[in-house]
Amino acid sequence: MTEKQSTIQRHISLGDFEGAIDSSISLYNLPIDVSKVSIGQPSDSGARAETTNQGEIILTNGVITNGAIGLVSTLAHEAIHLDQLYNGRWYSDNDDFGEDLNEVEAYDWVISNAEELELSPLEIESNKNQRTDYYNKLPDSIKTNVDNGIYTIDYPVVPTPSSNSSKFTPI
Ligand SMILES: [Zn+2]
Repeated sequence: MTEKQSTIQRHISLGDFEGAIDSSISLYNLPIDVSKVSIGQPSDSGARAETTNQGEIILTNGVITNGAIGLVSTLAHEAIHLDQLYNGRWYSDNDDFGEDLNEVEAYDWVISNAEELELSPLEIESNKNQRTDYYNKLPDSIKTNVDNGIYTIDYPVVPTPSSNSSKFTPI
């Protein structure tokens, strides 16, 4: 376990979940307002975490008790959903694949920053598997775009709150 992970893990072991979230965000420089993160049940009961269209992140208890690596990975994933929300890539619920595309983007970002995020091989593997599931749902033309690093589609986006958020680089 790395030094950062040990710090986060110590909060988890003490039952200090807020401290675990706070230190995950600060140690990995994630562009998340900690006051917008809460512990609860995502609207999709099978999900580990959710970013709402109000820019709030909801984490299940399980995300935290599973340990530092999963918590950091999940927060980084949700940070990409915030980026999508605030930068015109939040597609409506009733389109065919906008949400799938957004999931692929979030997983891709986490996978490509796995070293900086200090993810374990197991966590990377899990991200890759989930990425594949969503990627396989995309139409061929969108797969080609994704293969070329393009994660936008021409669907109208849902109006969202404004923010100065932009894509980030963890330290
Ligand atoms: Zn997601």
